Formats: sequence, C-alpha cells, structure tokens
Amino acid sequence: MDWMNQALQQRRKQTLFREAKVTKRLSSTLVEINGQTLVNFGANDYLGLSWSSAEHSKNCCPVTIGSGAAPLLSGYSEHHAALESSIADFESSEAAIVFSTGYAANVGTISAVAQEGDLLLSDSLNHASLIDGCRLSKAKSIVYPHSDMQAVHQILSQHRSQFKRCYLATDTLFSMNGDLAKLLEIVSLAETFDMAVIVDEAHATGIYGKNGRGWVEECGLEKQIAIRIGTLSKAIGSVGGFAHGSQVLVDYLRNFARTYVYSTSMPEWVAISTKSNLARLSSMSRERTILRSKSSDLRHRLQVAGFQVESGDSPIIPIRMESAEIAVDRSNRLREFGFYIPAIRPPTIPADQSMLRVSLSIDHTEEQIKSLINSLSPNSAGVAQATR
Ligand code: PMP
Repeated sequence: MDWMNQALQQRRKQTLFREAKVTKRLSSTLVEINGQTLVNFGANDYLGLSWSSAEHSKNCCPVTIGSGAAPLLSGYSEHHAALESSIADFESSEAAIVFSTGYAANVGTISAVAQEGDLLLSDSLNHASLIDGCRLSKAKSIVYPHSDMQAVHQILSQHRSQFKRCYLATDTLFSMNGDLAKLLEIVSLAETFDMAVIVDEAHATGIYGKNGRGWVEECGLEKQIAIRIGTLSKAIGSVGGFAHGSQVLVDYLRNFARTYVYSTSMPEWVAISTKSNLARLSSMSRERTILRSKSSDLRHRLQVAGFQVESGDSPIIPIRMESAEIAVDRSNRLREFGFYIPAIRPPTIPADQSMLRVSLSIDHTEEQIKSLINSLSPNSAGVAQATR
C-alpha cells in the first residue's frame, strides 16, 4: 500500500487531504463537531426540510430497515411506485424513476442515453456525477469551458455532422459556482443543431420556478428539455435521485440504466418520508422568495465588505480565495469563531479556483448571518460565537 500512502502524503503536502468529521446535527442550522457548536453554512438543506420529522413513523409500521433487493427483483414496493408518481405529478411529467442516490441518477441516465456513435457535450463545471456519466458512456464526449456558448457553437459546427445523435449535459444551478446555466441559449443551439439537452436540477429543485420544479420551469423550457434529472437530497431534504420525462424515457431507463437495474432500491421508509416532504414543496413559494432574497442580500453585503462574490440570488455563495491554503486557513479560523464553512479546493474544482462555499438555508437567522459577515473579515477577532 506504499503507493496509496504516497498519494495521501502528496495530498497532505498540497493542503488537499480530506477526512470525514463526525458531525452531530443539533438543529437545521447548528451542528456539533469535536464538542464545539457551530453554525452550519455547509449543508444543502435549503428549505430546512431534512429536519422535518420522519413521516414513516406515523404511516408505516412495522418499518423494515432495507428494501432487500434491486427494484427489478423484489425491491420495488408500493411506496417506491407512489414516490415515483408523486415526482411525476410534481414535475408535471408523464413518468419518473427513482434511483438510490442523485449520483446514481446522473451516472445511470447519461451513460444509458448517450451511446456509441453519439456526441456528448459537458460543461467543465458539471458535478462529478455528470462527468462520470460521460466517462461511462460510449459516446464521444467533449468538455466545453464553463457556460461558454460560443465554444459550444464552435464544437457543434465542427463536429455535429460526424455523429448520429447529440446531447448536451449540464447542471442547472452549478453546485460549486452557484451560478445558473444559460438554458435559453443552450436550447436555441439544441434546436439549430438537432441536439437533446440533459439537465441536472439537483440544487435548483425547490428554489427556482413557480412550483419549485427548478430552473427549467423558471426559464419556461419544460417542453423543450426532454431529459431531466434531480436529487431528493438537497431542498427535498431526503436521499435518492430521479429522472423524469416521457413514459418511453422512463421505461428505457428502467431497462438500461445500470445504476438502477443493478443496485438495491432505497428503503421503503425513505420513500414514504420523501414523498411527504415532496408534497410540501409546491406550496413553499413564500419560502423560495425569502431564501432567494436573503441570498442576494448576503451576496451584496459580502461585496460591500470587500469579498470577491458574484451577484445573484442562488443560495450557493462561493467566496473566492487566493489559494487552497488560504481557503483552508480561513475555514479553520471561522471554525474557531463558531462557523462551519467548508473550504472547496481541487480536485472538486480547478486548481486556481479555491473558495469558501457558503450554503444558505431559509432557517439561518439574521443574527447568524450578521455574525458570519463580521467573522469573515481577516482582522476579525471573532465577533460572535454560535448561538442556539
Ligand atoms: N448533482 C449535483 C449538481 C450535486 O451537487 C450532487 C451532490 N452534491 C449530486 C448530483 C449527487 O446527488 P446525491 O448527493 O443525491 O447523490
């Protein structure tokens, strides 16, 4: 195992070593790490729904721990079927299919749909699960610079005619950058070049769109984008992933998506609880508005305080740091002041783009936000400690 040790040493030297910290969740915004209470700005629980009491305890007794099998064997219960139809209803799609994680949904869908002889374009800042879907697909895959529509146009002009079918896969709300895909331009290129668009709405579901269906709904492009993927693990507050669209697409994925066919389905109690969280999402437009306005307000206040932050209203707010070392140092210092804000560094993002990534939840209080801004200052003496 010497070579593994060397790889780890290398990571340590570059300040890129990671470890999983035992984290006790105290409330929707507070965690305890190493006995210290911290305000948690490092979760994706945008609407606080992961903290809702588990519905299964009321509705499903006795509850089994595991589903016992892959869905096409005996692991597909009435609760899985019910969750899929509520996702289809929520998304206003013909059908939906549930995977055991969002990661599996992306890998399985992209690799099953894009085939040998096809062309697959992928944004350079796509999440690892889209990247891995592209790697597993037998299509020719080309990565284009982040949101660079001129580059996409150029690639399509040069290569489209040599391939049978063509796909473009993109996050809608980019998980690290916190910016939104240029869907109108992407769809227009798709029409010109006979290309299908595959989107991952992981972070946008629940935040964007009148009904909370995501950025595609907000852009009015639900009819134009036929293959849509999401996770149950962010605003929906649970675990699992899904794809939705036509019945044909869903039947196809149920037969050909390997991460679905060859993997044990989620436990029934997860399916039940997830369905009850999903039912709350459509009616949370007030919460969506509040979260988005809190997000743009925090971005503005950080800019005024001199930080390198983009304007916008998404709750993923990256604060650029000069290097991975500085990002880690700042994150550690913030911990001393009572805040958990992860340092994001390679290989998650390109080498020159290390950052502190603030994820905002509807439940963060003004006091917590104000203290965060004060404590972020390099000269801060730690104005506030986490408050219960
Ligand atoms: N897509 C995006 C954009 C993500 O950020 C993530 C995870 N953070 C996933 C997919 C994977 O989802 P899950 O955690 O539900 O597996």
